[in-house]
Amino acid sequence: MSIETNSTERLNDVESKKPEGQKPHARVPKKFQVNIYDAWCKKCGICVEFCPKGVLTSDELGTPHPTNQDKCIGCTQCVLHCPDFAITVSLLEDAKELDK
Ligand code: SF4
Ligand code: SF4
Repeated sequence: MSIETNSTERLNDVESKKPEGQKPHARVPKKFQVNIYDAWCKKCGICVEFCPKGVLTSDELGTPHPTNQDKCIGCTQCVLHCPDFAITVSLLEDAKELDK
């Protein structure tokens, strides 16, 4: 018996055990909250440069703002590179929290 046959049989076995009418779970994308502690931020712009998703932008004074927070993937590059521990990223358990 080949590996492929085994896999197919196992998939069919799983399918046959699903309750009638049960829909597969939808993947809910994770949402993150970016917090910048202004008192500790020296406006160096490192977090803005390291963010791979363009979540952070600097204003005219160099202060970073999470202007595209919905794009945050929680990679924590901004947190890891901030020399002043002035930025945190937390996972929102309920995606609706972002809309409050
Ligand atoms: S966690 Fe990653 S994606 Fe989110 S703001 Fe920081 S660097 Fe950007
Ligand atoms: S890396 Fe830290 S200190 Fe520098 S701008 Fe970002 S939050 Fe401020």
